[in-house]
Amino acid sequence: MHGTASKPGAPAAQADTRGADERYFSALSDNRFEIPQCDNCGRHHFFPRVVCPHCGSTALRWVTPSGRGTVYSTTVVRRPDGDYTVCLLDLAEGPRLMSRVVEIAPDAVHIGMPVQARIDALESGPLLVFIPLGHLA
Ligand SMILES: [Zn+2]
Repeated sequence: MHGTASKPGAPAAQADTRGADERYFSALSDNRFEIPQCDNCGRHHFFPRVVCPHCGSTALRWVTPSGRGTVYSTTVVRRPDGDYTVCLLDLAEGPRLMSRVVEIAPDAVHIGMPVQARIDALESGPLLVFIPLGHLA
């Protein structure tokens, strides 16, 4: 609002320097799960950074992954108000991330289980979770 007209549809290529996590959560709150992919080496990574952890390039762009993944490891966190899982999940695109597998009993989550990403709107903000394939609501 300082006289310089910002182009609404312009690509936000420079936004990566402003904080990759900010860019990530901004997309998530729009119900979009996006991760960076490197234009130089073609690999994805997560958690988002401004420099490719594989080759050091800054030529990153944001893409929507398939959301498919498999459980690499799972831990059940026991709480009085309900147990939940903390899992390491391997995305089909390669990156490994930490999340929860929901919609089934925590004890039923097992290594190698195919899962699908879903964004849950919680009071605290959007949360990326995973549900077992076949349990799509
Ligand atoms: Zn790279």
